[in-house]
Amino acid sequence: MNALSSEPTLNDLLTSRPPLEVNARDGLLFEGVPLHVIAAVAGTPCWITGAGTLRRRANALKAAFEARNLPVHFHFAMKSQDHQATLTILRECGYGVDIVSGGEMTRALHAGIKPNGIVFSGVGKSDLELRAAVEHGIRQINVESVEELYRLNDIAQACGKIAPAALRVNPDVDAQTHDKISTGRAGDKFGIEHRRAVKLYAEAAALEHVELVGLAVHLGSQMLTAEPFRQGYSRLADMVREIRALGHTVKTVDCGGGLGIRYQDEIAPPPEMLAGVIAESLGDLGVELSIEPGRWLSAPTGILLSRVIETKAGNPDFVVIDAAMNDLARPALYDSWHGILPVAPAAFNDALKPWDVVGPVCESSDIFAKDRVLPASLKRGDLVALLDTGAYGSVMSSTYNSRPFAAQVLVDNGRWEIIRQRQSVQDLIAAETIPDWLLPAHG
Ligand SMILES: *Cc1c(COP(=O)(O)O)cnc(C)c1O
Repeated sequence: MNALSSEPTLNDLLTSRPPLEVNARDGLLFEGVPLHVIAAVAGTPCWITGAGTLRRRANALKAAFEARNLPVHFHFAMKSQDHQATLTILRECGYGVDIVSGGEMTRALHAGIKPNGIVFSGVGKSDLELRAAVEHGIRQINVESVEELYRLNDIAQACGKIAPAALRVNPDVDAQTHDKISTGRAGDKFGIEHRRAVKLYAEAAALEHVELVGLAVHLGSQMLTAEPFRQGYSRLADMVREIRALGHTVKTVDCGGGLGIRYQDEIAPPPEMLAGVIAESLGDLGVELSIEPGRWLSAPTGILLSRVIETKAGNPDFVVIDAAMNDLARPALYDSWHGILPVAPAAFNDALKPWDVVGPVCESSDIFAKDRVLPASLKRGDLVALLDTGAYGSVMSSTYNSRPFAAQVLVDNGRWEIIRQRQSVQDLIAAETIPDWLLPAHG
């Protein structure tokens, strides 16, 4: 920890993230690729995904469940990072996806994910989206309300199909996380109230075009303790027993996502914790289990690389970088903390001082860090890396302030390539049209 604050030092940040290293010639490297080289070719701001890091995490998560002898289906919550390359890597690791829109379904199918590997969650699926899901024959639709269940039955009937569905239950458990990423409390908009779900399950067994396969739950995100998982899953287990006692079949339980990571100094539980809780709560029910991790897999695979536009002396001293809240929204949206490292080799031995790190967008909330201890020598043109931005990073970008989407790069243990070209302002303008009546009459 740092003498000036309780925050991790630059060295703490570096040593706890094995894909990062510093050498005397190139400064900061990610999976063996010097970041200054990427910046020189791809420009800044620029998102970087570590393919090797993603594969390692995907395999470690699977191993944690295999060690428990738990047969689990792994569905990556692709809303956290949805690039075709990301999906391709995870498909090759044996993952399916959890989707929350028809757009994500199209992306997943395009990346070669089989319909049988797709689970559809989300509180407001349109008729069009449900019809597409039914017609593609995806694995499971997690239904979030009675109304949606009956609508799905009608849509499946119109398609001449039987739709496999699970009831997403709201177990009324406090995930003990940030208010804006909590999803399983009674007042949250997600899921079916657990007291009504058993009765509904029994009623829905009579529907002819929906096959109820089981229950689903997703408690919240960035969860750091076992307790909310244990409460949610044991509530689900009780419900499975009640439903079976009424004579109905429960084949699957979908445990959702939510496993947290260390951004700052959190004690993040390993995936073995989650595997243990699931084994203890649900392991003896004889159901097919699935999980939907997003953040745990993707957050540590990502860096947002940015260049200092200006330093502005004052109280506090500001460092204005060329990434902004339109690129990375999380600090403005959730007050989230992201590690920031300099890139130049000399910077790691410099004297330190606190800076406020901000973006150029015209909003007071466009702040990445307050009183952040960084090299005192930071100056115009220097590169900085914002860490753990792989989840809910590029996918949440907007073009606010006419700032086009940043470039994306994949690094893979020494290799690298641009995987999305930087958008141009011309691309933004080209998508707009002006009604004739606003233009001066011709001739
Ligand atoms: C967002 C979401 C997830 C993934 O959550 P993480 O915290 O990123 O693991 C999983 N399931 C559902 C239904 C979600 O909405």
